Amino acid sequence: MREKLERDLVVLGGGPGGYSAAFRAADLGRSVTLVEKDAVLGGVCLNVGCIPSKTLLHVTGVLEETERLRAAGVTFGNVSVDLQQLKAHKEGIIDTLTSGLDDLCKARSVERLEGYGSFLSERSLLVKTGNKELEIEFDDIIIATGSRPVQIPGIRAEDPRIWDSTDALALKEIPKHLVIIGGGIIGMEAAEIYHGLGSEIIIVEMMKELIPPADRDLKQPLLSAARKKYAAIYTSTKLTGIEAGEKALTVQLEGKKAPASVEADAVLVAVGRKPNTDSIGIEHTGITLSPGGIIPTDTAMRSTVDHIYAIGDVTGNPMLAHKAVHQGKCAAEAASGRKSAFTPLAIPSVAYTSPEIAWVGMTENELKEGGIAYEKGSFPWQASGRALSEQAPAGVSKLLFSTETGRLIGAGITGLHAGELIAEAALAIEMGAAAEDIAQTIHPHPTLSETFALGSEIVDGSITDLLPR
Ligand code: FAD
Repeated sequence: MREKLERDLVVLGGGPGGYSAAFRAADLGRSVTLVEKDAVLGGVCLNVGCIPSKTLLHVTGVLEETERLRAAGVTFGNVSVDLQQLKAHKEGIIDTLTSGLDDLCKARSVERLEGYGSFLSERSLLVKTGNKELEIEFDDIIIATGSRPVQIPGIRAEDPRIWDSTDALALKEIPKHLVIIGGGIIGMEAAEIYHGLGSEIIIVEMMKELIPPADRDLKQPLLSAARKKYAAIYTSTKLTGIEAGEKALTVQLEGKKAPASVEADAVLVAVGRKPNTDSIGIEHTGITLSPGGIIPTDTAMRSTVDHIYAIGDVTGNPMLAHKAVHQGKCAAEAASGRKSAFTPLAIPSVAYTSPEIAWVGMTENELKEGGIAYEKGSFPWQASGRALSEQAPAGVSKLLFSTETGRLIGAGITGLHAGELIAEAALAIEMGAAAEDIAQTIHPHPTLSETFALGSEIVDGSITDLLPR
């Protein structure tokens, strides 16, 4: 039986984009209905993405730090990992966060509907929930259905030894030999986790370099570490097939420097994500998807249909939780009659590897390709007292200033906590800071954050920790 409902603002998808949009709209006085197919809110980020991966990276990071302490004369006993307890630890963190969202939802009187939603028309949504069907007529809707892993055609993903990122974070087992297809951020973070837990890692990347969007100088410290840690890294190499034997998987490769095949106990395929826009009845709305299934929007996150907004991963790259959250708030505000636009100068990207790599604004590669004149200040962490104290000299803080305006237009940081440090660069870009502004902002000593100010002192000409240029 189909029940008919009339609603004010519907949000489809309860990930970071969706719940932020729902909460902001409720705070602005809209009556909000949040439709989520899963029993929990939080989407990919909280349940099978950002949070579980960072929880596990924290654990393996501490293990790595204890190893580094050997050089300082401190050794620990044999390490053992109780996989069930580690899993419970990870699930506990996720539960804390998702139940916090439930409370926030209740406190704001946001109506929750658990079910799969698809458009019947540009004004109505069908929600299949248990054995019920709800037909919801709405005034406005925000699409926030997120994304899912891309599968490689011809690879039989039904074999339980062939994983996507969700399988990898489920911690089903620690394979002795793990082959990771895709050397982007998700693949490299998984390599870090499973290496830390005892797997032997082989990374296969189709492009010339790992983590393709980041500048090469930022990646160098990670590449040196990865070459030491992992059994092999094959770049410019394609996966051509996986043969499922009883005892092992045979992973077939094609690349100048790669063998024809390698054996694995598990294979993680992490070759990108695609928007969940192909089975939500978008064809009934009048919206035409852009290539790759992306929903095109204006700066208010409004689609080509006035009362239909789209946010987060469905709007394409970069597919990041913080982008989804900001877009969600923007859409909620625009739908509530406020002037709001999503026009960031800078969206930070972070690979939470060891060392971390973070970048924001324009990369040096982009500046070169675009023929944009720039001045660069690059401060090596070997000259940072704090980095040495932390046994983390493998790092760099790079600042890129426009020659024309003198303002910071891009920055990259590699090293311990680079993901935390890059927020200052994002703020500096958004505020239009020049080298002098950053150089004269007093940073605490001794900190890693100082390296950012020291990078701008290089351009400012006031550096004393290195010789001036
Ligand atoms: P999602 O989080 O994908 O949420 C979409 C929601 O919609 C889901 O809950 C889904 O169940 C629901 N849904 C889908 N279709 C329907 C439907 N038809 N009806 C009802 N509900 C539906 N980003 C970062 O910024 N930092 C990180 O460190 C980071 N790490 C990551 C690690 C991994 C392993 C992965 C896979 C991703 C990571 N990301 C990270 C990316 C981040 O998770 C996503 O960019 C973010 O979750 C996108 O948010 P969203 O709201 O657009 O969609």
